[in-house]
Amino acid sequence: MSLDNHLTTQELRALDAAHHIHPFSDTAEMRAKGARVITRADGVWLQDSEGNRILDGMAGLWCVNIGYGRRELADVAYRQMQQLPFYNTFFMTTHPPAVELSAKLAEIAPGDKNRVFFASGGSDANDTNIRLVRHYWAALGKPDKSVIISRKNGYHGSSVGSASLGGMAPMHAQGGLPIPDITHIDQPHWWAEGGDLSPEEFGLARARQLEEAIDRIGEHRVAAFIAEPVQGAGGVIIPPETYWPEISRICREREILLIADEVITGFGRTGRWFGSETYDIDPDIMTIAKGMSSGYQPIGGSILRESVAQVIEEGGEFNHGYTYSSHPVAAAVALENIRILQEEKIVEQVAEDTAPYLAAKWHMLADHPMVGQARICGMMGALELTPDVAARAPFANTGTVGLMTRERCFANGLVMRHVGDKMIISPPLTISHTEIDRLVELAWQSLDEGMAQAKAEGAFRTP
Ligand SMILES: *Cc1c(COP(=O)(O)O)cnc(C)c1O
Repeated sequence: MSLDNHLTTQELRALDAAHHIHPFSDTAEMRAKGARVITRADGVWLQDSEGNRILDGMAGLWCVNIGYGRRELADVAYRQMQQLPFYNTFFMTTHPPAVELSAKLAEIAPGDKNRVFFASGGSDANDTNIRLVRHYWAALGKPDKSVIISRKNGYHGSSVGSASLGGMAPMHAQGGLPIPDITHIDQPHWWAEGGDLSPEEFGLARARQLEEAIDRIGEHRVAAFIAEPVQGAGGVIIPPETYWPEISRICREREILLIADEVITGFGRTGRWFGSETYDIDPDIMTIAKGMSSGYQPIGGSILRESVAQVIEEGGEFNHGYTYSSHPVAAAVALENIRILQEEKIVEQVAEDTAPYLAAKWHMLADHPMVGQARICGMMGALELTPDVAARAPFANTGTVGLMTRERCFANGLVMRHVGDKMIISPPLTISHTEIDRLVELAWQSLDEGMAQAKAEGAFRTP
């Protein structure tokens, strides 16, 4: 059992350094400083092993949508573990949590998205999607339609398949990615890449890259396009208004499937149940995970349009599945999470109250001399840090000032992540007005301190 701190922080750090390999961490730096040890959480507040309270501006990793400490989810998990801790759904078997969760997801997903294939997270769900769309076209007698188009700086997970879909250059540099038949177009990031174009012109130009890619590769070769409605891990990149309508037009006119990766944007993050509703997208497949269980259990999946599922079924047995596909405990917890989101009208509350309040406060940060843009969509926001606001200029050493600022945030009791020199937030949807005030206050203070340090260390300069 590890519920209480029977080890000191120092002992925990030493054992951690000796035996625990961390995802996405600079090991040398972590060894020097010691890993941060989080021991408990309640609402939007984390507590570390030294008793410090930290406001979690990231909802864990974009996932704890209903906040920490909801007893109901623990009770459901406990009861489900006693009744049926595990059984699979292979070989024509099912169990009540899998049935009820599939039906619930079909109810809340827009339109004819009625069928669900379960995974344990977003990465394996996107791996499923790669096999699904290729199998779909093969079943229709078009096995050559296997190329999937995605975007540079998109994030779709960390497994071999999903990281290939993603467009993260540092990830592709390790382990021989991407796998064949995946190609990337540019992202719709106006602030950094829009040059002299208006956001509207730039959104159209970036969307039309999809059409150009289809023409170049040949429509007979292209299976699908995958994208996040709002890029999350890439730095909360909110597309210009013109982007999604044009992407939708291209997908409608061309014979390709559209996959909306809703792993972050699903379950209320953008102020609607799904980002596809916020942007009026009608995808064939939606990837879900994270907020689906508010992170209380690992679960993800793919929601398919009825007609797509039918083709897959007519294509014979789908030779695919994970031991933990539709895990009963994870499914029961996800169901309870969705019940709370619905009964407490949390998504409506985000749309009508919390998100507008956060947006008003967040936009004030644009007045900070180091902030070039403060953008926000629902409950996910970003600040572009820059040494020259008017020129939308990058820093000479990408990520240095972002990292300094993030460290100041931690020291001040706020989790705000940095992606390069973008500062990003994605707090629990249940954050209160007072907590939002506090978040923005701590962000401003940390920006001040980050900027002072950058100037003192000669990092506050353009290339
Ligand atoms: C986090 C994320 C994933 C990967 O999900 P995991 O549960 O970490 O495997 C996929 N897509 C998007 C958009 C994500 O943000």
